[in-house]
Amino acid sequence: MRKDVIIVGAGLAGSLCALYMLKRGFKVRLYERRADMRKAVLVAGRSINLALSVRGWTALEKVGVDAHVKEISIAMPKRVMHDLEGNLTDQFYGNQDQAIYSVPRGELNVLLMNLAQERGAELFFNQKCFDVDLENPKLIFENTIDGKISNVSCDLIIGADGAFSAIRTKMMKQDRFQYSQYYIEHGYKELLIPANADGSHKIEKNALHIWPRGNFMLIALPNLDGSYTCTLFSPFEGKDSFKELKTPQDITKFFNSVFKDFTPLIPDLVEQFLHNPTASLGIFKCFPWNVKDFCVLIGDSAHATVPFYGQGMNASFEDCRVLDDLIEEHEGDMLRTLNKFSQIRKPNGDGVQDLSLHNFIVMRDKTADPIFLLQKKIEQKFAQLYPEKWLPLYSMVSFSNISYAEAWVIGMEQEKLMSKIMNLPNIKETWDSDVIMQEMLKMC
Ligand SMILES: Cc1cc2nc3c(=O)[nH]c(=O)nc-3n(C[C@H](O)[C@H](O)[C@H](O)COP(=O)(O)OP(=O)(O)OC[C@H]3O[C@@H](n4cnc5c(N)ncnc54)[C@H](O)[C@@H]3O)c2cc1C
Repeated sequence: MRKDVIIVGAGLAGSLCALYMLKRGFKVRLYERRADMRKAVLVAGRSINLALSVRGWTALEKVGVDAHVKEISIAMPKRVMHDLEGNLTDQFYGNQDQAIYSVPRGELNVLLMNLAQERGAELFFNQKCFDVDLENPKLIFENTIDGKISNVSCDLIIGADGAFSAIRTKMMKQDRFQYSQYYIEHGYKELLIPANADGSHKIEKNALHIWPRGNFMLIALPNLDGSYTCTLFSPFEGKDSFKELKTPQDITKFFNSVFKDFTPLIPDLVEQFLHNPTASLGIFKCFPWNVKDFCVLIGDSAHATVPFYGQGMNASFEDCRVLDDLIEEHEGDMLRTLNKFSQIRKPNGDGVQDLSLHNFIVMRDKTADPIFLLQKKIEQKFAQLYPEKWLPLYSMVSFSNISYAEAWVIGMEQEKLMSKIMNLPNIKETWDSDVIMQEMLKMC
């Protein structure tokens, strides 16, 4: 008999997971709280984008949808740093042939939902899950338009309902279930740089742009229509905070003083700033991620993180691939599959969260710090000479499928080693010498 799966949440993780479960021959029903975004996304006039990297691509490829996603993505092989005076510096993320990709979130979600539907999934919109029976796989949904309640049962429940998961909330009522949430002091606001009149990009297209300013920073990712989605990350309160930017005068003065070359790119900057919401950022942890052999959490519902490594979606896509691998490995034994999934993915959820917090410091402070840039040059040189001994942390996370947990541990060991190297006398003069490479080799 075909296994009957209900996926709660038709976001990025839920839609991709549907494709995996369909490929396995399961019956799949996707329930989504929101209206069908396929009717709204293309007229939204505003595109939010995400950075997709190797582990995301690996998961898309395994289920045969990577070529579709390629068509809506823009390669970003480098960061372009914008200093206070508007001077630009390029920093390649890896080797010249490696890139992360800017992908429009709405279009990606629509694409995955369409493919899931074409391949046999049933999609239900305006269906808010508000209860789940953790004794037997049963769910209760409320139609958000007419209030109608439906009770549905299945063999397997996949909770892909995001950071504020209803499935996880119910799991929290179980004995010994672990849960924590931590909001950082920074929030974010999105702004849009429009395209030129001819549809071209106003700044370099194939790059992620960063304006690092210490306690706050601005980033911009290109969209296919010539625009850029920009995100300002700032503290909610205190110096240079959102709280200080209340009036058009405050906003204009702030942007003119710290983002000189950015300000002229958005003619209606003040209107956008006042109109667009300021959102919070948090880390959500829980364990275990499964209940018995019939309920499991994937994506943000299990491990929502702050966005500074651009890995939340990538980690969620990796969940789908790993869950599928485990179903295969355990030949349909769902108890062993889900227990193992929870056990092996939890350290990676923690790993991606640690990495994300760490990269906030790197992006906002270090990318403008000459000592850090020198350190990266030394690492790069060593990695090229001894690739079997050193893969830079950014490459482990973004250009490999090495587990997040392992990347984090290796990355922190590399940091320790590099702090010894950076403390060697005259490192600024000697960094390019064989002596430094030999010193690193001894320490590895
Ligand atoms: C500012 C920002 C930038 C980011 N940038 C990146 C990036 O560059 N790269 C990257 O990899 N990640 C990035 N992320 C993270 C990424 O957006 C998330 O990790 C990813 O969306 C998680 O997917 P998901 O499907 O688990 O959750 P979601 O995308 O949140 O989807 C959950 C779905 O469940 C639905 N739902 C919720 N509750 C219910 C309910 N009770 N009943 C039914 N349906 C429900 C929701 O409507 C939604 O459709 C970023 C996040 C933020 C906030």
